Amino acid sequence: MGREEWRLDTKLVRAGEPDPAVEGSVSMPIFQSSTFEYSGDDPDQELRYIRLNNTPNHLALHRKLAALEGGEAALVSSSGMATISTTLLTLLRPGDHLMVQRSLYGGTHQLLTGVISKVGIVVDFIDEMDPDTWRDALHQRTAMIMVESISNPLVRVGRLRKAVEFARDHDLLSMVDNTFASPVNFRPPEEGFDLSVHSCSKYLNGHSDLVAGAVIGKRDLVDRIGENLVDLGGCLDPHACFLLHRGMKTLGLRMRRHNQTALTLAEHLRSHTKVSSVHYPGLSDDPSYDNARELLDGCGGVLSFDPAGGPEHAARFLHEVRIPYVATSLGGVETLLSRPAVTSHSGLSPEERSDLGISDSLVRVSVGIEAAEDLLEDFDRALKA
Ligand code: PLP
Repeated sequence: MGREEWRLDTKLVRAGEPDPAVEGSVSMPIFQSSTFEYSGDDPDQELRYIRLNNTPNHLALHRKLAALEGGEAALVSSSGMATISTTLLTLLRPGDHLMVQRSLYGGTHQLLTGVISKVGIVVDFIDEMDPDTWRDALHQRTAMIMVESISNPLVRVGRLRKAVEFARDHDLLSMVDNTFASPVNFRPPEEGFDLSVHSCSKYLNGHSDLVAGAVIGKRDLVDRIGENLVDLGGCLDPHACFLLHRGMKTLGLRMRRHNQTALTLAEHLRSHTKVSSVHYPGLSDDPSYDNARELLDGCGGVLSFDPAGGPEHAARFLHEVRIPYVATSLGGVETLLSRPAVTSHSGLSPEERSDLGISDSLVRVSVGIEAAEDLLEDFDRALKA
């Protein structure tokens, strides 16, 4: 069996590792050196410096990430936002038009309406569930369509295959933020996306102890993004590279556990008298259920719900739970709770949030790997209170 045929769990452990191992080291050593000696023959090929994203720690990560999603190349950066901003600023020029899904991570929304719009890139928000409306948004200068595989915080799965088809039909670049699904549940290059971006701070690392980003996809595009990343300076430190590399090895085990516990919790909350609505694409009556079944190998560890009784009850619930931490971010081994209206989506106006269906009482849950029974009991107790 060739390396390309390895299953995902084998790739997580073995793909991209130095071969032969460095001094026989089974774990990738940390090359904590900002610069490296070179022979002077070909500076373009040989010059190594952390900001050039080409130390042995960076290169091992690039090989592993590309192998996981079946992309031609990958590039890590200092955060998910560094990846997204560098990618957009590389591939779009002033006057270009970007179509992007409406239900979007708040930080990306802020980037698009702020820096990206200020440099003259025109941004239009589209309904990711309704491809029939996309054609109306097309301009002569439309250059890219951008979606999220599972959206934040309403965990919607849009018409991802239609987005790829639409991009092909209209000669656009297609890009998906695959943070919430992770390569275990969805591999965008296999579906034809040109680029997949990640906040590696979430599932890929999985331990809530670093911030990092990655872009995976077509080599010519990743190379161009890499050239700008050098100039913009969003490089990842080798120690963070090491932590990310180590975290990724258990992604398969973690993700399957997240998928399973999130579904159990979502089903439990759906029939709870103190809960008015639950959003999780694995629930058979969720609007994203059919899209998720068609595309994903699992629905991920994030769900959101509205406790009955409004924002005060949501705040009280957050105060009463004992196992989860009330903290922003997601994708770690510990369960985290947040209220998007006052955290990730506080940058949107109340009208914008209400248009998107994000209520002030919405609670987002990033389900960790604790025992599901303990979480259910804790949620029940806190909801009763
Ligand atoms: N994309 C998504 C879907 C996210 O949820 C986040 C952060 O929460 C980001 C991108 C930004 O990632 P980072 O915090 O690593 O910059």
